[in-house]
Amino acid sequence: MSSKLPEGFLQYAKEWEAKINAFIELRPEMGEGDICPGGAAALVAGLPFAVKDNIAVKDFPLTCGSRLLEHFRSPYSATVVRAIEAAGGRVIGKTNLDEFGMGSSTDNSAIKRTNNPWDIERVPGGSSGGSAAAVAAGIVPFALGTDTGGSVRQPAAFCGVVGLKPTYGAVSRYGLVAYASSLESAGVLSDTVARCRAVFSLIRGRDPMDETTHEAPEAAAPLYPADMGAKRIGVLSPEAIAKALAAAAKNTEDDGNDAPVSALETAAQASVLEAEVRRGFELAKERLAGLGHTLVDVEIPSLKYGVPAYYTIATAEASANLARFDGIRYGARPGWAENPDELIDKARERGFGAEVKLRILLGTFVLRSGFQDRYYLRAQRIRAGIRRSFESFLGDGEYREQAALDAILMPVFPSRAFGRGPSSLSAFAQKAADLYTCCANLAGLPALSFPASLEGGLPVGVQLLGRAYAEGVLMDIAEAYERQYPFPHPAGYRAFWK
Ligand code: GLN
Repeated sequence: MSSKLPEGFLQYAKEWEAKINAFIELRPEMGEGDICPGGAAALVAGLPFAVKDNIAVKDFPLTCGSRLLEHFRSPYSATVVRAIEAAGGRVIGKTNLDEFGMGSSTDNSAIKRTNNPWDIERVPGGSSGGSAAAVAAGIVPFALGTDTGGSVRQPAAFCGVVGLKPTYGAVSRYGLVAYASSLESAGVLSDTVARCRAVFSLIRGRDPMDETTHEAPEAAAPLYPADMGAKRIGVLSPEAIAKALAAAAKNTEDDGNDAPVSALETAAQASVLEAEVRRGFELAKERLAGLGHTLVDVEIPSLKYGVPAYYTIATAEASANLARFDGIRYGARPGWAENPDELIDKARERGFGAEVKLRILLGTFVLRSGFQDRYYLRAQRIRAGIRRSFESFLGDGEYREQAALDAILMPVFPSRAFGRGPSSLSAFAQKAADLYTCCANLAGLPALSFPASLEGGLPVGVQLLGRAYAEGVLMDIAEAYERQYPFPHPAGYRAFWK
């Protein structure tokens, strides 16, 4: 079988790309050629796909959105990319991202600015914003991203596509440029749930090149066949979390906690859902109940510590992972320096953007000797507590024998795609707003974001979080929803792919 690009596609891709700038490099003609389809690959074979530019694809750039790697090309391909290529998928480009995956807007890219296909004055979300925008515009039917604290699910929600963050260890990280190794996973962004399932079925599994990977255990829910029956879904109350945060801001002085009150207040405000997101979330609840699922309210009070724990662990790991970019082993080398120390200083000073520098500083701060108890170890304890809370509801881990919920429904992000300029979210508020996404990474559990509704012309996503290796259950629920309420597309979208 040979794959020909559909009539009119090249022009279509060019026109969309001129508007949204989703790609760091786009070679749409790569989609043509012979392919060898097989089995689960029916929704992948012969189709073009895009890859976030912090995942290695042989002979493509691997900039990570950074000046430091602007001219670097990868000599090999990541395991996830090879798995899709083996099933007949073809990479047509590398997509834009926040530098090294650090951000929620893709505006932290040093290479270019990507726009949201629903409204080009707004951000596509981040950090996998280029991948989400490319799928939403129909340039590719699916794309790969990475999710360390929400970077697949949040841009998926902003652009109105499906976004899956798999269980930690379900998918190989070989060939991903590490940001925070213990939190991150390669993930799928796609036009439909069925496509997400097909892509995930190809990329999951043990990889000898990544010792943290596992096959799904025998007892885990199967990915196929889909079970569209009624499920028990817990609903996490966003109000309860926002209230807990506001109370924390009030009580902070009595706590002996030295965080500035104003920062805590801003964080509490940033977690409150925008009215449109609130409406979308309520609508999703009604629709899920209408589809026959049982909904029960759940509260996880420890989530109010999720963001501080996430940023402590993520920046600590980032400061270590980014040490290799020194202008010697990796990264553009300055033309001249007096000695090796100066060379490294110059390479990093010129190469890294402000957000990356901030995070390296934070990471070295929380790890500095004598203070690990106070920050890093404390964050690890919070992380374990959050995981246990989810497991207690989902009947996982030490709670395996308990009657349990099949999934937990949560908002993805407190706002829809935000604009640029004064109406934008501050860098601090963007971090506080990672509250709903970062807990799945802290807990290592799978989470799936899908478009719940359109509110005021912009998509609103919701996410389902599940037991370890229960991606299939989450996709069953989302697929039943999609059948009844097909996902929306931006104006000008054309469906080229079956
Ligand atoms: N917004 C989060 C951060 O900036 C998400 C990052 C990610 O998942 N790569 O860290």
